Amino acid sequence: MRKVTVLGATGSIGQNTIDLIARAPDDYDVVALTGGANIQQLADDARRLGANLAVTAHEEKLDDLSSALAGSGVEVAAGSRAIAEAAARPADWVMSAIVGSAGLAPGIEALKQGATLALANKETLVCAGSLVLETAKAHNARLLPVDSEHSAVFQALVGEDIDAVERVIITASGGAFRDWPLEDLANATVEQASSHPNWDMGQRITIDSASMFNKALEVIETKEYFSVSPTQIEVVVHPESIVHAMVGYRDGAVIAHLGAPDMRHAIGYALHWPQRRNLPVERLDLTKLGQLNFKSPDLTRYPALKLAWDVMDRGGLAGSVFNAAKERALDHFIARHISFTDMADAVAAVLDRFDASDGLIDAEMTLDNVQKTDHLARQWVDDTVVERAG
Ligand code: NAD
Ligand code: MG
Repeated sequence: MRKVTVLGATGSIGQNTIDLIARAPDDYDVVALTGGANIQQLADDARRLGANLAVTAHEEKLDDLSSALAGSGVEVAAGSRAIAEAAARPADWVMSAIVGSAGLAPGIEALKQGATLALANKETLVCAGSLVLETAKAHNARLLPVDSEHSAVFQALVGEDIDAVERVIITASGGAFRDWPLEDLANATVEQASSHPNWDMGQRITIDSASMFNKALEVIETKEYFSVSPTQIEVVVHPESIVHAMVGYRDGAVIAHLGAPDMRHAIGYALHWPQRRNLPVERLDLTKLGQLNFKSPDLTRYPALKLAWDVMDRGGLAGSVFNAAKERALDHFIARHISFTDMADAVAAVLDRFDASDGLIDAEMTLDNVQKTDHLARQWVDDTVVERAG
């Protein structure tokens, strides 16, 4: 039996992971499940899967979780420290599916105990790429990509020499506003931004897909995970979301990865790696699809995408600044304090302010420094929003 833990078990990726685990309950010993405010879901899954431990991020919800799991034998805990402790419990495989930079510290704990970390939480590599990769190496732990594009690249690299890679092309659906007139974007509502044409995902990543902040994070994630240079990474808008990524080799060959837009592909690949097992996902029929379309992204529509290369040029802690500023700008958009197009402006302004503050971005990459810059970037977004409101 493999010991597994799911961080962010109540979310979109977490629930898809549990779906796969629950189909073969005899194969897995569930060490811990963690979640947020959805106590009922967390408790039901912990009971159903016979988890040893269930943890909610919210300390004030501990009593609710205890009552929901009374008599089940499942241990309960609450708070961010308890989540990190859950990640540190010995397990063979840990799914990192918390949303945002809150996923970083628990992911590092999982690597420190030598677990294989299935990385849906792209923020981990964006905020602290070298720290995370060094931690994995030092503890003989493995990182497997779960983001669909990165899983696709990983699969297109099997048996190949990374030095033979000329370019990595990741696709983007273009999100909710792909075909909107540009002048309407400033008035886009939270509800409009929260519906994705192809993928069923958590609200935050869905809005990030509409702005392409998600793709910007994925470009940085590609650089970190595969150690390719920023100039080798391309983004192509592909409205059907069937081709997830392509790897171009120096002989001109391009290997593409195709699949129905269902995250259980990438989750299942990481769960069963290096084997391939049967997965309950739709089989592609290209004759039914008829055609697949590709075009280059319009950077006036997606200014957030361009920022990815600015961030990679800056290096150091710029990824953490970028992600935290993006998270906070998104909070303000969801709270209706700023418009959809204000988000990219606010993030660019915070990056500039860091540039003007000597040494901050070039500080050593420790978890403490990453968390400090994260905190400061959020504060500076708040300053920008207050200025605008004033
Ligand atoms: P989601 O919002 O559906 O779920 C997030 C999970 O994290 C929930 O269990 C929630 O309770 C928990 N959580 C939220 N804030 C927390 C905090 N501060 N501390 C601890 N736990 C917290 O998100 P999702 O769509 O499942 O995405 C999860 C991660 O996977 C994100 O990093 C996202 O970018 C990435 N990802 C998601 C998809 C997808 O299809 N949904 C695809 C690729 C990558
Ligand atoms: Mg993705």
